[in-house]
Amino acid sequence: MHLNDEFGRSFKYLRLSVTEACNFRCSYCLPNGYRKSAGPQPLKLDEIRRIATAFSELGVHKIRLTGGEPTIRRDFDAIAATIAALPQVNKLALTTNGYRLATRAQTWFDAGVRSLNVSLDSLDPVRFHQITGHDRCDQVLRGIDAALEAGFHQVKINAVYMKGINDHEIDAYLRLAQHQPLSVRFIELMETGDHASFFKEHHVSTDNVANKLLREGWTAKLKAADAGPANDFIHSEYQGSIGLIAPYAKDFCKSCNRLRFSSLGKLHLCLFGEFGVPMRAFLQSDDQLDELKERLMVAVKGKTASHKLVAGNTGQTSNLSAIGG
Ligand code: SAM
Repeated sequence: MHLNDEFGRSFKYLRLSVTEACNFRCSYCLPNGYRKSAGPQPLKLDEIRRIATAFSELGVHKIRLTGGEPTIRRDFDAIAATIAALPQVNKLALTTNGYRLATRAQTWFDAGVRSLNVSLDSLDPVRFHQITGHDRCDQVLRGIDAALEAGFHQVKINAVYMKGINDHEIDAYLRLAQHQPLSVRFIELMETGDHASFFKEHHVSTDNVANKLLREGWTAKLKAADAGPANDFIHSEYQGSIGLIAPYAKDFCKSCNRLRFSSLGKLHLCLFGEFGVPMRAFLQSDDQLDELKERLMVAVKGKTASHKLVAGNTGQTSNLSAIGG
């Protein structure tokens, strides 16, 4: 039994959000900070175990924990260890703003996390503070060093590439990848419901980064089967690599290999889709596993060919903290 859609795509990669809450106040995501609402609580550990088990028995072998900021959960270590223990999961990944990485990297590695994406939107401490609302650039950089020391197989740095904010920092990011095995990725700013005017002001294509890399001797790398959405570039004089994520590019969705599950128990077929398919009622007992798997397989058939971002349709996504970027 596998998760396949009507467009010939099969899904072996799940992004699982474990909380909507985030402690950072990134200007393009949650500029006023996360506000707790009176609604339902995030999935409990047992519910997370059940959904991860169902996906893994349907062929998903890579699971990424995301949020909000996943590591603010008190039971984060237990969540990681529980998912890492599933026999079919061979890659447990984490997307984090890195605020706890310096002290927790080894613990998370020991719990079974193998791949890390760390958000770092500026290498300039003052600008980092302006973007995130936190004066923690050095803390995150120390965290990245700690992750490399702890033995993480893959450490990726994610920078949302923004006109007039950090688009002059490319060389500084390249230097970061020169002597360390880091994959630095520039993500094009995506439009979300809350931030249409921010998007208009700061969105810029990463094409100019690609052109600069090619001019400077970098070459495009072939993609692995379970790879994420980045187009990667390598250079003989650099230990690390550079990735470009361009969601507005033609055919971006053709190779989509991932599904998303929210911290409130909904399956999201696309980051920019409509409401999400509620599944929480089927996460309440281990006896529901077969029914849950059946429902997931049926729901995935409803995945559309592509998002409609180019037409300015952001779906129900007001910002990315709810579903996880
Ligand atoms: N708190 C974690 C973190 O900071 O990485 C995980 C959640 S965050 C929503 C995941 C990723 O989405 C981050 O790399 C963030 O920069 C990115 N992101 C959020 N909003 C975005 C947007 N409008 N366009 C592009 N990337 C965005």
